[in-house]
Order: sequence, then C-alpha cells, then structure tokens
Amino acid sequence: MQILEHEFMNRHTTFRVGGPARFFCIPETEEELAEIVARCTAMDLPFTIVGRGSNLLVADRGYLGVVIHVGDALAKAQVKGTTITAQAGISLAALASYACRMYLTGLEFAAGIPGSFGGALLMNAGAYGGEMKDVVRSLRLMDPDGTIREVDASWMEYDYRTSRAQKEGSIIVGATLELRPGDPKVIQAKMQELAARRREKQPLEYPSAGSYFKRPKGRFAGALIEQAGLKGFRVGGAQVSEKHAGFVINAGNATAADIAALQDEVVRQVRERFGVTLEPEVKRLGNFR
Ligand SMILES: Cc1cc2nc3c(=O)[nH]c(=O)nc-3n(C[C@H](O)[C@H](O)[C@H](O)COP(=O)(O)OP(=O)(O)OC[C@H]3O[C@@H](n4cnc5c(N)ncnc54)[C@H](O)[C@@H]3O)c2cc1C
Repeated sequence: MQILEHEFMNRHTTFRVGGPARFFCIPETEEELAEIVARCTAMDLPFTIVGRGSNLLVADRGYLGVVIHVGDALAKAQVKGTTITAQAGISLAALASYACRMYLTGLEFAAGIPGSFGGALLMNAGAYGGEMKDVVRSLRLMDPDGTIREVDASWMEYDYRTSRAQKEGSIIVGATLELRPGDPKVIQAKMQELAARRREKQPLEYPSAGSYFKRPKGRFAGALIEQAGLKGFRVGGAQVSEKHAGFVINAGNATAADIAALQDEVVRQVRERFGVTLEPEVKRLGNFR
C-alpha cells in the first residue's frame, strides 16, 4: 500500500486548503484497508477516512494522524436486477453514470455532487429533492479492528445531512442501493438539466466545499447570509460567494484560518440579526486553535 509522509492536504480537498497529514495511506483492497485500520487502532494512532475531500476543512498546521484515503482504488460497482452494490471510493458521478448505463433511475440527483459514495452515505448527501437515504438498502461498515459487518439502512437513523455512522465515526466500506428501471435517455437528460442548474446557481469556478452551512429549519442559510448583508464578505482569501451566499469560496490563497474566521463572523452576524445559529455542514480536521 502507498504510504506518504507529510502529504499536504490542500492536494486532497476541494477547498484547496490544508497542511500536511503525518501519514497519508492509499489502501488498494479492502484487506489493506482493514490492515491499516486495525494497526492504527492497536497502536492508538488517530486516524480518519477521507474520500474526495469535498466537505472538508483541514487545518493549516495539518493533521497529526493517519489519513486513510478511500478513493479510486476502492471503486468497484456491480449491478444485480435493480440493485447496485459498490465500494465506498467510487465517485458519485461515476456511480450515477453507471446506474444510467444499467438502465436504472433514482440516482440522478447525486450526479453533480463531487464526493465519494462513502462520504455521501455518511453525510446523507442530497440535492434537488433526492437524498442518499431514499436509495440505500444496506451498508458494509468496518469496525476499528478491521472486521466488516453488514447493516440495514435503518441502522443509519438517517436525517438531514446526518447519520448514526457520522455520530459514531463508523467507517463505510460500501453499500447496496435499490433503484428502479428507467430509460437511459430520460436519465441522461435529467442529469444534464440538474448540472445546468448547478452551473447557473453555484460558483463552480472557485474552490469550495459546496453549501457551507446546513439549512436551518424552515429557512435557507444562503438567504439569511444575504439578508445580513454578507454577500461578498471577505476574510483574507476566504469569501462568501457573490453568486450564491450559501457557498464560502477560496477566492485566492485562502488559509483554513481565513475560512474558519469567516465562518465565525457569519455565524455571529446571522445570530445577532435573526436569532438563528447556523451550523456548518463542512467537517473540520486538525487543530484550529
Ligand atoms: C461544488 C460542490 C457542490 C456540492 N454539492 C453538494 C450537494 O448538492 N449536496 C450535498 O449533500 N453535498 C454537496 N457537496 C458536499 C460534498 O460533496 C458531499 O458532502 C460529499 O458527500 C462528501 O463526500 P467526500 O467523499 O468528498 O467526503 P470527504 O470530504 O472526504 O469527507 C467528509 C466526511 O466524511 C467522512 N468520510 C468520507 N468517506 C468516508 C467513508 N468511506 N467512511 C467513513 N467516513 C467517511 C470524512 O471523515 C469526513 O468526516 C458539494 C461540494 C462541492 C465542492
């Protein structure tokens, strides 16, 4: 297995921000994944799984632990009737396009989310009326000693952008989705329509982690931020997007500290103005103090 030392995480996050991980491991099989997880556990080394880094803010000083990258090397998918079973490292884009080629509908909403399958299952990623919880049937989880067990989707206690696996820090190795028969032409057209909506509304030309904040009950984070007069607000190289106030972008040479400070200020001003406390959707890794 490839093990890199002091690997800069700005190469592995869509924010293009983050200092070095002490170790960065790229397991190529589930056995290698089990081995590294079990070793870290036995040696009491802190470790974390990183997929495509599209929902991640890594500290400028990096992470004094082991980053285990579950990506292209663990990305097999296979279809059986109307179900698809896939490994956690496959990208959602590749999985959605595979479903389309296999005449299966239900995953179109995920085609434009730039994460891994594992990250999306953990986050209950969703868009345009669809969420992972609508299509997941069962998951394969890895325990800290490297053993794999299968759980039903109900085990995840899915809710808006959260899951039991997220709360417990479980490792997702793969999952089986239940889809429906569909026409590839219709599926393709739907994915293209959603991609166009994204391009129109989202600042895809800048590095970001997508919508930075969770949607507060009955409100929209972007609208609150805009009404607080914070569209375009900047701290160093971090900026509230002019195009979509729900996005925080790296407008050029932003540091993790810039983004964290901007988050704090946005939360403070929105709370002061509307009495609503915004919660970040983006996960942090490393020491921010
Ligand atoms: C331009 C843009 C648009 C976006 N649009 C959307 C959207 O429409 N809807 C939406 O929900 N999200 C969206 N996102 C956010 C992001 O793509 C999703 O949250 C995605 O599911 C994260 O997957 P990832 O592999 O990149 O996770 P990472 O960023 O690598 O990790 C996120 C969290 O998941 C954990 N994790 C990752 N893989 C695993 C695994 N196999 N097992 C256990 N834990 C794991 C990590 O430890 C971390 O805590 C967007 C992001 C960007 C940059």
